[in-house]
Amino acid sequence: MQAPAHLGNSAASRDIAYHLHPYTNAKAHESVGPLVISGGKGVTVTDDTGKSYIEGVAGLWCTSLGFDEPRLVDAAIAQMRKLPFYHAFAHKSHEPAIDLAEKLVALAPVPMSKAFFACSGSEANDTAIKLVWYYNNALGRPEKKKIIARTKAYHGVTVAAASLTGLPNCHRDFDLPIARVLHTDCPHYYRFGQDGETEEQFATRLADNLEALILREGPETVAAFFAEPVMGAGGVIPPPATYFEKVQAVLAKYDVLLVADEVICGYGRTGNMWGSQTYGMRPDILTSAKALTSAYLPLSAVLVSDAIYKACVAESEKIGVFGHGFTYGGHPVSCAVALETLKIYEERDIVARVRDLSPRMQGTLRRYLDHPLVGEVRGVGLIAGVELVADKATKQPFDPKLNVAGKLVAFAHQHGAILRPIGDTVGFSPPLVINEGELDELLARFGKALDDTADWLVREGVR
Ligand code: PMP
Repeated sequence: MQAPAHLGNSAASRDIAYHLHPYTNAKAHESVGPLVISGGKGVTVTDDTGKSYIEGVAGLWCTSLGFDEPRLVDAAIAQMRKLPFYHAFAHKSHEPAIDLAEKLVALAPVPMSKAFFACSGSEANDTAIKLVWYYNNALGRPEKKKIIARTKAYHGVTVAAASLTGLPNCHRDFDLPIARVLHTDCPHYYRFGQDGETEEQFATRLADNLEALILREGPETVAAFFAEPVMGAGGVIPPPATYFEKVQAVLAKYDVLLVADEVICGYGRTGNMWGSQTYGMRPDILTSAKALTSAYLPLSAVLVSDAIYKACVAESEKIGVFGHGFTYGGHPVSCAVALETLKIYEERDIVARVRDLSPRMQGTLRRYLDHPLVGEVRGVGLIAGVELVADKATKQPFDPKLNVAGKLVAFAHQHGAILRPIGDTVGFSPPLVINEGELDELLARFGKALDDTADWLVREGVR
């Protein structure tokens, strides 16, 4: 593909010529081109023209310590010098992985037995799926293999994790989901609560629907339920009151495992170390990534309960080696950076910081409920979503072709803020080290972009 002539031989032009982008409209990219980010400092990133942006989504909900934490750089360099690679296959190990596994088991929201390391959230969730299957084979119930996730869930893009993800883009044209993956209701009260139904009644209805699905499929065939504490990439959807309590009662009744996908929520985002603590989840398996290293290097961790670990031991007695693992899983340099990241979270009491800042972010955003375009503001801790609607009274969404949230985010770019469009929702997930002044500035820039969007809709004749 030839880039537009006015781009010359710039980085943007070469990007169009050579780079196939993830989660990007390939056709649009040929004319729109990339926003080339070339530097980062604190909560700000700078593009190749020198323009600065407050990163309102911490990259992809991940750079919790901002973009220039020297201690993480030093930790990586020191480990690179000492041992730049080793693995954990076939009884090998290294100190950073041992220290990190011990630390994560101690930090876990419920008693956990062991940590397994991979490189990404998708790999962590694929690992969790395989562990669930392995566990049920070990227990001599090979038919108990189906996995339930939720519409609008995001669990990643590898073949199995993408199957759990409940978004059409991740299935359509990829021949997914694979067999034995089912989806149940999205717990979004604003969108799916019925007239006159309270949040608690909505949660009861969803738990009843989950139970009905398990009964329809046969409880002896259903192995696990995957859930993000707050659904992130599906639109920032915190659960309705009493949801996880009711869902967990159903899971317990039919001996179905709970896998908490803490890839976004883990490490402070919701105002506790884990989203599971915020919502009273008691997972059998917990997956995490992103803020584990503040995203400075790829790393994910899967925590497993003692029952699952014991099944691994029993099965390996029968069949031999546990046949799963990634070359770069638990890379020593990533583990060293994770250990330093967790140390910084503790020293700076990152959870307390999120709790201090949360009312400022959530409160300010909720003030926009008065704005004619804003239908719902939702969120917890330092994660939030603002849903735009064509009609506040009826909750009528905009015509998807208008891409209203995408337009707002483009205006936000002009004002120096990076935000995330998800359908008609604008997502916020700033670095956890953002200070009050920076947060106020981010929200003010969002406010300007919101007004620009309203003016644009008038110009387009939509309002
Ligand atoms: N789970 C959740 C909840 C996520 O938000 C993501 C990524 N946004 C993933 C899994 C997949 O992680 P990765 O992109 O590292 O594979």
